[in-house]
Amino acid sequence: MTEGPIFKGLGGPGRAARPVYLDHNATAPARPEVVAAVSEALAEGGNASSVHARGRAARARVEAAREHVAALVGARPGQVVFTSGGTEANNQALRGAGRSYAIAAAIEHDSVLAARPDAALAPVTADGVIDLDALDALLAARPEPAIVSVMLANNETGVIQPVAEAAAIAHRHGALVHCDAVQAAGKIPVDMAALGVDYLALSAHKIAGPIGAGALIARDGAPLEALIRGGGQERGLRAGTENAPAIAGFGVAARLAAEGLAEFGRLAALRDAMERRLAAIAPGAIAFGANAPRLPNTSKVAMPGVDGATQVMALDLDGIAVSAGAACSSGRVEAPRVLAAMGVPDALAVAAIRVSLGRTTTADDIDRLVAAWRALFLRASLRAA
Ligand code: PLP
Repeated sequence: MTEGPIFKGLGGPGRAARPVYLDHNATAPARPEVVAAVSEALAEGGNASSVHARGRAARARVEAAREHVAALVGARPGQVVFTSGGTEANNQALRGAGRSYAIAAAIEHDSVLAARPDAALAPVTADGVIDLDALDALLAARPEPAIVSVMLANNETGVIQPVAEAAAIAHRHGALVHCDAVQAAGKIPVDMAALGVDYLALSAHKIAGPIGAGALIARDGAPLEALIRGGGQERGLRAGTENAPAIAGFGVAARLAAEGLAEFGRLAALRDAMERRLAAIAPGAIAFGANAPRLPNTSKVAMPGVDGATQVMALDLDGIAVSAGAACSSGRVEAPRVLAAMGVPDALAVAAIRVSLGRTTTADDIDRLVAAWRALFLRASLRAA
């Protein structure tokens, strides 16, 4: 990791400037309406399985949320199983569908790949899009029916996957299809029926809801077993007293996300202008996946020669929050797995950061990011000279 002088001349954490949050794909700050709904439900209390008035009020909140969450993805409320988040939803689909052969796109989230470490990996193109011919070949390679996992949008690059096409191929082979729509929901329209998938995973905190709530939505008749066993909550598919306050907040977040979808699209112009400005500063500032359809808010961009973790720390000192795809473990910077799957050389992949915009992002936020990034690039260039 690069250290020392590269940080000099920065404002430091005490700086008065307003913090700039550009890490919405990690978690989107809860909206005030969500905070109000969660605290109201928490204050009211009640176990949604109790038959008395307080229990019935908690149940009503859970069921109202179920309608909003279903509506966000064009599903029916009865198809929604509330979980503790996207990770659990992914695990339940992949381990609870009863399929012994699993196939996942190589760029899937860790919660998919760790749920099925046995999965055959379908490669992606240099643009980060699943290779559908390779998927077809993997499906044909084994006789038993598979479960296929293809995310709707990648969390690192924002690249949107051809899920409907993948599902059609998979179904021709008798496979079940799971789609991790955690990053896509609330950012682009999501219609479960149009995608043709059997299972779809959502997470509340990626759509400005509370952390610790999510949903697995299953097609009617799709096989599904409980992962967490105990009481008969969620139609016997997810035991444990429903987290009614978090679920209530999830419902409000889903309703607001659906209402704000058209507005979210404005972020693409801000993001694209940012990428152009970064490329003008550093000619090698490549935006990964930029040739493929992408979420409007996500940019994975490299500053050649400066590792991502250093950029994140330097920008943080300037009050700007972004993330690095590179995980720093025992002082070592690992090449991000998603970029490696796209064939990006390690030296460039470790120099990438993810900038993810959100509902509240302004042109001024982007100006701040570009200015701080330019200053960092100039310091790094001087040091290298
Ligand atoms: N899937 C994707 C694509 C994600 O980006 C994330 C979160 O980073 C998850 C799943 C996990 O969701 P949760 O944090 O709700 O467990």
